[in-house]
Amino acid sequence: MGSSEIHKFYKKSREERIALVKEFAELSDEEATLLGTNSVLSFETSDKMIENVVGMQQLPLGIATNFLIDGADCLIPMAVEEPSVVAAASKVAGIARTAGGFTTESDEPIMIGQIALVGVEDFEKAKSTIIGKKAELLEKAKGIDPVLVKFGGGPRDIEVHERQAKSGKIVMVHLLVDVRDAMGANAVNTMVESIASDIEELSGGKSRLRIISNLAVHRKARAKAVFSKEAIEESFKGKDTGKTTEEIIDAIIEVYEVAEADQFRATTHNKGVMNGIDAVAIACGQDWRAIEAGAHSFAAFETKYRPLTKYYKDDAGNLVGEIELPLAVGLVGGAVKTNPLAGVCLKLLKVKTAQELAEKIAAVGLAQNFAAIREIATRGIQAGHMALHGKNIAVMAGAKPEEIEAVSAKMAEEKNIRVNRAKEILEEMRK
Ligand code: NAD
Repeated sequence: MGSSEIHKFYKKSREERIALVKEFAELSDEEATLLGTNSVLSFETSDKMIENVVGMQQLPLGIATNFLIDGADCLIPMAVEEPSVVAAASKVAGIARTAGGFTTESDEPIMIGQIALVGVEDFEKAKSTIIGKKAELLEKAKGIDPVLVKFGGGPRDIEVHERQAKSGKIVMVHLLVDVRDAMGANAVNTMVESIASDIEELSGGKSRLRIISNLAVHRKARAKAVFSKEAIEESFKGKDTGKTTEEIIDAIIEVYEVAEADQFRATTHNKGVMNGIDAVAIACGQDWRAIEAGAHSFAAFETKYRPLTKYYKDDAGNLVGEIELPLAVGLVGGAVKTNPLAGVCLKLLKVKTAQELAEKIAAVGLAQNFAAIREIATRGIQAGHMALHGKNIAVMAGAKPEEIEAVSAKMAEEKNIRVNRAKEILEEMRK
C-alpha cells in the first residue's frame, strides 16, 4: 500500500495529482477520469435527485494528504469552498503521523426512530403495555426491511419515555434500529410508520409524528491523536511564535478551555471541527445536514453546549487530542450511489463499512479543529489563511507558477496582501 505522505502534493499538476491518487487507491481508468471531471452529474440524473433542477452548483474537490488512521495510510477527499481547509488538515495529519497518527473507534450503527403519542391517559400503563409487546413489535418492524436484516441489521429495542409539551404529556416511543451501512433515515422512517398504529392501539393514544431522530447518540465515532512535543516544535520551525513548545502546548490547551467555558467560542470551535467533517461528508455524498444537526445537538446533550473535542497533556508532556460525536453516515442509499463521484471518494478512503467511514471522518474533524486552535494559540488565525490567500493574490497579479511562492512570501512578510502590491513586487523581481 502506498503512503499518504506525498511530498509537495500541492505543487504537482492536476494530472500528476490524479495519477498519484489513482495509484494509491487502485482506481480504474474510468474512476480516475471521474475524479478529474468538473461536472459529473448529467442533467437527467440530477433532475431525478431533486426537483425543479436548472443547473449545477459546484465545489472544489481536494485531497488531504499525510493521514495515518488506525495504522493505515489514507488520502482524504474533501469538497469545500473555503481556502486553507485542505492544507490545514494535511499539515496536522503530518504532525500526528510522527506519533502514530489517529486511532479511532465507533459504536454499532444504531439509529432512533420516534413515535410521539398524544392523549395517553396513564403513562405507566401505556409504557408497560408497549414494553410487554416488545418482541411482537420488533418482529413486525423486522419484516419491513428484509434486505437490512439480511445484512445483519434490523430493529433492536424499544424504549418508552415521558415528555412534557405545552399542550400536555407526550409518550415518546423510541425504536432502536441497527442500520448497518445505511445512514438509515428512510429505513427507520418506514419502520416507525409501520408499527405506529399498533403502538396507538396498545397505548390508547394518537401518534403525532413518526420519524427518525438526527440525535444519533447511540452511533458515535471517536478519534484520538498524540501531537508530540517534537512534531509540534518541528511544525513551527522557521516561524516566530515568541513561545517555547511547552508554552505553545499550554496555550492550545487554554484555547480549548476557553471553548469549554464560553458558548460563543465553543460554537466557533465546533465550526472548525465541522469544516473537516462536512467537507469529507459532501465529497462522499452524505447527508451533511443530518450530521450537522446531530453534532450540535450532541454538543448540548444533557449539558450546556460544549466543544466536540478535548485536549490535555500526557505524562511525557505531549499534547493529546480527542473527538467524540454522532456520525450517521452510509455506504448505501441516499445520494451515495446516484452520484458516481461519491463512490470514487469512498473507494479512496478504502472504507468497507459505514462505521469505518464514521471513524475516518471523526479523525478529519479532530485534525481540522487542531489546525485551527494551533494557529489561534500562536500566530492568530489570519497568518495561515493569509499565506494561502497571498498565493491567490499573486496569481491574480499575473505571477507565473515559479514566481508565486516568492511574491506571496514577500507580501506576507510585509503584512500587505493586495493585488497592487503583488504587481509591484513582480515588477521588481523581473527587473
Ligand atoms: P435508503 O433507504 O436509500 O437505503 C437503505 C436501505 O438499503 C436499507 O433499508 C436496506 O434495505 C438497503 N441496504 C442494502 N445493503 C445494505 C447494507 N449493507 N446496510 C444497510 N442497508 C442496506 O437510505 P437510508 O440510509 O435509509 O436513508 C438515507 C436518506 O434519507 C438520505 O438521502 C437522507 O438525506 C434521507 N432522509 C433524511 C432524513 C433525516 O435525516 N431526518 C429524513 C428523511 C430522509
